[in-house]
Amino acid sequence: MRFILKVVLSLLLLFLFVKTHAQFNVNSLFETASSRIPAEAFRIVPASQHVVIDSTTFEDLAFGDSLNGWKNWSFVENYNFGKDRGALPMITDLNSLHPFFRDQIINLIVKCKAKGIELAIVETYRTHAKQHEYKTMGKKYTSSGAGRSKHQYGLAVDVVPVVNSVAVWNNTVLWRKIGVIGEKMGLRWGGRWRKPYDPGHFEWTGGLTSYHLVNGKLPVLPNFDERYPCLEEDIKILRRYWKEWETSQGALTRK
Ligand SMILES: [Zn+2]
Repeated sequence: MRFILKVVLSLLLLFLFVKTHAQFNVNSLFETASSRIPAEAFRIVPASQHVVIDSTTFEDLAFGDSLNGWKNWSFVENYNFGKDRGALPMITDLNSLHPFFRDQIINLIVKCKAKGIELAIVETYRTHAKQHEYKTMGKKYTSSGAGRSKHQYGLAVDVVPVVNSVAVWNNTVLWRKIGVIGEKMGLRWGGRWRKPYDPGHFEWTGGLTSYHLVNGKLPVLPNFDERYPCLEEDIKILRRYWKEWETSQGALTRK
Protein backbone atom coordinates (compact mmCIF):
# COMPACT_ATOMS: atom_id res chain seq x y z
CA MET A 1 0.00 0.00 0.00
CA ARG A 2 2.79 2.42 0.98
CA PHE A 3 4.60 1.52 -2.21
CA ILE A 4 1.57 2.40 -4.35
CA LEU A 5 1.18 5.69 -2.48
CA LYS A 6 4.83 6.54 -3.21
CA VAL A 7 4.40 5.78 -6.91
CA VAL A 8 1.25 7.88 -7.14
CA LEU A 9 2.91 10.78 -5.34
CA SER A 10 5.97 10.62 -7.61
CA LEU A 11 3.80 10.56 -10.71
CA LEU A 12 1.86 13.56 -9.43
CA LEU A 13 5.07 15.52 -8.81
CA LEU A 14 6.39 14.58 -12.24
CA PHE A 15 3.14 15.71 -13.83
CA LEU A 16 3.27 19.07 -12.03
CA PHE A 17 6.90 19.57 -13.00
CA VAL A 18 6.27 18.84 -16.68
CA LYS A 19 3.16 21.01 -16.67
CA THR A 20 4.85 24.16 -15.29
CA HIS A 21 7.82 23.79 -17.58
CA ALA A 22 5.73 23.07 -20.64
CA GLN A 23 3.72 26.20 -19.92
CA PHE A 24 6.91 28.27 -19.65
CA ASN A 25 8.02 26.98 -23.04
CA VAL A 26 4.70 27.67 -24.68
CA ASN A 27 4.73 31.26 -23.43
CA SER A 28 8.19 32.05 -24.72
CA LEU A 29 7.71 30.26 -28.02
CA PHE A 30 4.45 31.88 -28.95
CA GLU A 31 5.25 35.40 -27.87
CA THR A 32 4.40 37.36 -31.02
CA ALA A 33 6.87 39.97 -32.21
CA SER A 34 4.15 42.61 -32.29
CA SER A 35 2.95 42.06 -28.69
CA ARG A 36 3.77 44.86 -26.27
CA ILE A 37 7.04 44.26 -24.45
CA PRO A 38 7.92 46.47 -21.47
CA ALA A 39 11.04 48.62 -21.87
CA GLU A 40 12.67 46.82 -18.97
CA ALA A 41 12.69 43.60 -20.99
CA PHE A 42 15.54 45.03 -23.07
CA ARG A 43 18.81 45.71 -21.32
CA ILE A 44 20.13 48.51 -23.50
CA VAL A 45 23.88 48.68 -23.92
CA PRO A 46 25.06 52.30 -24.28
CA ALA A 47 26.74 53.20 -27.58
CA SER A 48 29.93 54.32 -25.79
CA GLN A 49 30.67 50.67 -25.10
CA HIS A 50 30.89 49.99 -28.84
CA VAL A 51 32.82 53.13 -29.70
CA VAL A 52 36.58 53.44 -29.47
CA ILE A 53 37.21 56.54 -27.41
CA ASP A 54 40.78 57.02 -28.66
CA SER A 55 40.42 59.32 -31.66
CA THR A 56 43.43 57.83 -33.45
CA THR A 57 41.55 54.60 -34.07
CA PHE A 58 38.70 56.08 -36.09
CA GLU A 59 39.74 54.01 -39.11
CA ASP A 60 39.03 50.83 -37.18
CA LEU A 61 35.36 51.60 -37.59
CA ALA A 62 35.59 51.87 -41.36
CA PHE A 63 33.89 49.12 -43.31
CA GLY A 64 35.72 46.85 -45.72
CA ASP A 65 34.65 46.51 -49.31
CA SER A 66 32.89 43.19 -49.35
CA LEU A 67 29.81 42.24 -51.29
CA ASN A 68 27.82 41.33 -48.23
CA GLY A 69 29.05 43.88 -45.71
CA TRP A 70 25.55 45.30 -45.40
CA LYS A 71 24.45 42.06 -43.78
CA ASN A 72 26.76 42.77 -40.85
CA TRP A 73 25.10 46.06 -39.99
CA SER A 74 23.49 46.02 -36.59
CA PHE A 75 19.73 46.51 -36.36
CA VAL A 76 17.04 46.25 -33.70
CA GLU A 77 13.46 45.05 -33.68
CA ASN A 78 10.41 47.05 -32.68
CA TYR A 79 10.02 48.00 -28.97
CA ASN A 80 13.73 47.56 -28.36
CA PHE A 81 13.73 51.06 -26.86
CA GLY A 82 10.32 50.74 -25.22
CA LYS A 83 8.40 52.49 -28.00
CA ASP A 84 6.39 51.44 -31.00
CA ARG A 85 8.59 52.11 -34.02
CA GLY A 86 6.77 49.93 -36.55
CA ALA A 87 7.20 46.40 -37.85
CA LEU A 88 10.31 46.87 -40.02
CA PRO A 89 13.63 46.56 -38.11
CA MET A 90 15.66 49.74 -37.49
CA ILE A 91 19.26 49.91 -38.68
CA THR A 92 21.45 51.07 -35.79
CA ASP A 93 24.90 50.65 -37.30
CA LEU A 94 27.13 53.75 -37.28
CA ASN A 95 28.85 52.45 -40.43
CA SER A 96 25.61 52.96 -42.34
CA LEU A 97 26.18 56.73 -42.03
CA HIS A 98 28.13 59.14 -44.22
CA PRO A 99 31.71 58.75 -42.85
CA PHE A 100 32.08 62.40 -41.81
CA PHE A 101 28.70 62.44 -40.09
CA ARG A 102 29.44 59.06 -38.50
CA ASP A 103 32.56 60.48 -36.85
CA GLN A 104 30.62 63.50 -35.64
CA ILE A 105 28.13 61.17 -33.97
CA ILE A 106 30.97 59.21 -32.39
CA ASN A 107 32.19 62.54 -31.05
CA LEU A 108 28.73 63.29 -29.73
CA ILE A 109 28.64 59.94 -27.93
CA VAL A 110 32.09 60.55 -26.45
CA LYS A 111 31.29 64.14 -25.41
CA CYS A 112 28.04 63.12 -23.77
CA LYS A 113 29.77 60.30 -21.92
CA ALA A 114 32.33 62.79 -20.59
CA LYS A 115 29.39 64.67 -19.06
CA GLY A 116 27.98 61.48 -17.56
CA ILE A 117 25.31 60.93 -20.21
CA GLU A 118 25.16 57.55 -21.91
CA LEU A 119 23.51 57.44 -25.34
CA ALA A 120 22.09 54.53 -27.30
CA ILE A 121 21.65 54.57 -31.08
CA VAL A 122 17.99 54.10 -31.94
CA GLU A 123 18.27 54.44 -35.72
CA THR A 124 20.86 55.50 -38.31
CA TYR A 125 20.27 54.89 -42.02
CA ARG A 126 16.63 54.44 -42.98
CA THR A 127 15.20 52.81 -46.11
CA HIS A 128 12.35 54.25 -48.19
CA ALA A 129 10.23 51.34 -46.96
CA LYS A 130 10.90 52.24 -43.31
CA GLN A 131 10.31 55.96 -43.91
CA HIS A 132 7.05 55.12 -45.62
CA GLU A 133 6.04 53.00 -42.64
CA TYR A 134 6.62 55.94 -40.23
CA LYS A 135 4.66 58.20 -42.55
CA THR A 136 1.67 55.84 -42.37
CA MET A 137 1.99 55.69 -38.55
CA GLY A 138 1.12 59.36 -38.18
CA LYS A 139 2.43 62.88 -37.67
CA LYS A 140 4.20 62.22 -34.38
CA TYR A 141 6.58 59.87 -36.19
CA THR A 142 7.65 62.01 -39.12
CA SER A 143 6.56 64.86 -41.29
CA SER A 144 8.69 63.63 -44.19
CA GLY A 145 7.57 61.18 -46.84
CA ALA A 146 9.83 58.60 -48.48
CA GLY A 147 13.00 60.23 -49.84
CA ARG A 148 12.64 63.42 -47.76
CA SER A 149 14.29 62.36 -44.50
CA LYS A 150 18.02 62.95 -43.88
CA HIS A 151 18.12 59.42 -42.45
CA GLN A 152 17.75 58.16 -46.00
CA TYR A 153 21.07 59.71 -46.97
CA GLY A 154 23.04 58.56 -43.93
CA LEU A 155 22.98 62.13 -42.60
CA ALA A 156 20.74 61.74 -39.54
CA VAL A 157 20.57 59.65 -36.38
CA ASP A 158 18.11 59.11 -33.56
CA VAL A 159 19.59 58.61 -30.11
CA VAL A 160 18.18 58.17 -26.62
CA PRO A 161 19.80 58.61 -23.20
CA VAL A 162 20.16 55.40 -21.23
CA VAL A 163 19.96 55.23 -17.45
CA ASN A 164 20.45 51.85 -15.75
CA SER A 165 20.09 50.07 -19.10
CA VAL A 166 16.69 51.64 -19.78
CA ALA A 167 15.87 54.25 -22.45
CA VAL A 168 14.76 57.57 -20.91
CA TRP A 169 12.44 59.38 -23.35
CA ASN A 170 10.76 61.98 -21.17
CA ASN A 171 13.52 63.90 -19.38
CA THR A 172 13.53 67.33 -21.05
CA VAL A 173 16.46 68.58 -18.94
CA LEU A 174 18.57 65.65 -20.11
CA TRP A 175 17.47 66.15 -23.73
CA ARG A 176 18.47 69.81 -23.59
CA LYS A 177 21.96 68.95 -22.31
CA ILE A 178 22.43 66.50 -25.19
CA GLY A 179 20.99 68.98 -27.69
CA VAL A 180 23.38 71.73 -26.60
CA ILE A 181 26.39 69.41 -26.97
CA GLY A 182 25.28 68.45 -30.49
CA GLU A 183 24.54 72.01 -31.59
CA LYS A 184 27.96 73.18 -30.40
CA MET A 185 29.40 70.61 -32.81
CA GLY A 186 27.43 72.13 -35.67
CA LEU A 187 24.71 69.48 -35.80
CA ARG A 188 21.07 70.31 -36.41
CA TRP A 189 18.97 69.19 -33.44
CA GLY A 190 15.35 67.98 -33.68
CA GLY A 191 14.66 69.26 -30.16
CA ARG A 192 14.15 72.72 -31.79
CA TRP A 193 11.29 71.41 -33.89
CA ARG A 194 7.64 71.41 -33.02
CA LYS A 195 6.20 69.26 -35.82
CA PRO A 196 7.20 66.83 -34.48
CA TYR A 197 9.34 67.66 -31.41
CA ASP A 198 12.17 65.17 -31.99
CA PRO A 199 14.90 65.63 -29.34
CA GLY A 200 16.68 62.37 -30.18
CA HIS A 201 17.26 63.46 -33.77
CA PHE A 202 20.54 64.96 -35.02
CA GLU A 203 21.46 65.70 -38.62
CA TRP A 204 24.07 67.36 -40.77
CA THR A 205 23.84 68.17 -44.48
CA GLY A 206 26.75 70.54 -45.07
CA GLY A 207 24.19 73.15 -46.14
CA LEU A 208 22.30 70.94 -48.61
CA THR A 209 18.50 70.81 -48.72
CA SER A 210 16.31 67.74 -49.21
CA TYR A 211 15.97 68.83 -52.84
CA HIS A 212 19.75 68.54 -53.34
CA LEU A 213 19.87 65.18 -51.58
CA VAL A 214 17.00 63.71 -53.60
CA ASN A 215 18.97 64.69 -56.70
CA GLY A 216 22.05 62.80 -55.54
CA LYS A 217 24.18 65.74 -54.41
CA LEU A 218 26.74 65.02 -51.70
CA PRO A 219 27.54 67.39 -48.83
CA VAL A 220 30.89 69.18 -49.06
CA LEU A 221 33.16 68.55 -46.09
CA PRO A 222 34.71 71.43 -44.17
CA ASN A 223 38.04 72.40 -45.82
CA PHE A 224 40.19 71.53 -42.85
CA ASP A 225 39.11 67.93 -42.89
CA GLU A 226 41.55 65.60 -44.60
CA ARG A 227 40.67 62.45 -42.75
CA TYR A 228 38.67 61.08 -45.67
CA PRO A 229 40.98 60.36 -48.60
CA CYS A 230 38.74 57.52 -49.82
CA LEU A 231 35.44 59.30 -49.35
CA GLU A 232 34.17 58.80 -52.89
CA GLU A 233 34.88 55.08 -52.76
CA ASP A 234 33.29 54.81 -49.32
CA ILE A 235 30.13 56.56 -50.52
CA LYS A 236 29.95 54.24 -53.50
CA ILE A 237 30.06 51.21 -51.19
CA LEU A 238 27.58 52.84 -48.84
CA ARG A 239 25.10 53.44 -51.64
CA ARG A 240 25.40 49.82 -52.71
CA TYR A 241 24.74 48.65 -49.15
CA TRP A 242 21.79 51.03 -48.81
CA LYS A 243 20.33 49.54 -51.99
CA GLU A 244 20.67 46.04 -50.57
CA TRP A 245 18.79 47.08 -47.43
CA GLU A 246 16.18 48.76 -49.58
CA THR A 247 15.61 45.54 -51.49
CA SER A 248 15.51 43.47 -48.33
CA GLN A 249 13.06 45.73 -46.46
CA GLY A 250 10.99 46.30 -49.58
CA ALA A 251 10.53 42.52 -49.78
CA LEU A 252 9.44 42.41 -46.13
CA THR A 253 6.81 45.06 -46.80
CA ARG A 254 5.31 43.16 -49.73
CA LYS A 255 4.90 39.98 -47.67
ZN1 LIG B 1 15.42 61.12 -36.82
